Amino acid sequence: MDDLSPYRRPPFCPHADCDSRSQSTTWRFIKKGYYLRRRRPHRVQKYQCSRCRRYFSAASFSTRYWLRRPELLEPVFHRLVACSGFRQIAREYGVSHSTVRRMSDRLGRHCLLFHERRRPKSCPTEPLVLDGLRSFEHSQYWPMDLNLVVGGESLFVYGFNDAGLRRSGTMRPYQVVKREALERRFGRPDPQATRKRVEELLRRVVPPGGAVVLRSDEHQAYPRAIARIRDRTFVHTRTSSKLARTLENPLFPVNLSDLLIRHSSANHKRETIAFSKRRQSALYRLAIWTVWRNYVKDRSENRRRGTPAQALGIATRALSVREVLGRRRFPWRTGTVRGWLASCYFGRIRTRAIGRCVAHDARYAM
Ligand SMILES: [Zn+2]
Repeated sequence: MDDLSPYRRPPFCPHADCDSRSQSTTWRFIKKGYYLRRRRPHRVQKYQCSRCRRYFSAASFSTRYWLRRPELLEPVFHRLVACSGFRQIAREYGVSHSTVRRMSDRLGRHCLLFHERRRPKSCPTEPLVLDGLRSFEHSQYWPMDLNLVVGGESLFVYGFNDAGLRRSGTMRPYQVVKREALERRFGRPDPQATRKRVEELLRRVVPPGGAVVLRSDEHQAYPRAIARIRDRTFVHTRTSSKLARTLENPLFPVNLSDLLIRHSSANHKRETIAFSKRRQSALYRLAIWTVWRNYVKDRSENRRRGTPAQALGIATRALSVREVLGRRRFPWRTGTVRGWLASCYFGRIRTRAIGRCVAHDARYAM
């Protein structure tokens, strides 16, 4: 990736609040000389927007915009889906783990937009499979479900979101006491979280008026979520999660996704110390995994069958990570970034046990 800008000439003003987009007249820019840099390309063209009068450069359209170590973006993407922890990646490249975390966040935001732009907006024609991958954030006292909707035939991951849960299962007496203390201090997770988030996810994946076959396990919140969505039709079939997780299991597509997430993401390994300290970070990583799963990785390692995106007919071949990172995505150009997706993009998904969570409000490095 030597050429910094993916465009020969700037196609639009990169400033989020520029009103040139609402104008019907053609947008113009003025060339404003160059700035010099130490690495290649040594000269970068500068521009001025004729509408808002602000400056930008050819680099404003690159995913590597404003990075001190831009060459690491691509290898870090690969490491993040190859089960490395932030500190392991940091040691390999001689950077601090917070640099890797920031890169993971940027890649996550990019992948959220990449997927949102490309995923089919019409009603899926294949059966959908819904499940929650159980993980935790901050400590084992804060479990969460990562809800996934996967295509029953294509294995395409249509969407995901999160639901914070209350710690349950067998606990030692001191663990019960500690849970009480934590809940007094930070509040109890919303008991309706799964129902609310599954409802949001299904509304996002299935457009109004759509009808789909939906397979899931016997989670009690799922029928309640479906019952609230009156303008879509769901034919819901349920399978016990105790059934052997074989190829014949109706939930196989989502079981395989769960398996692959745990296999490729260090933060979801069992008994790991690389677990996500913030739920937001886990969601960014899941966005990276989703793009890799849908557009880069083959559906089968042994019998090459193409990517899930190819099976769905929205891609003609597998993409490389370099192609995925080809050009910078802007949230205001993606169109449908609102609701949960906007909260996730702008880093507003809170981790209860951390009082003040830093959101993503950088003005330029979107
Ligand atoms: Zn402008």
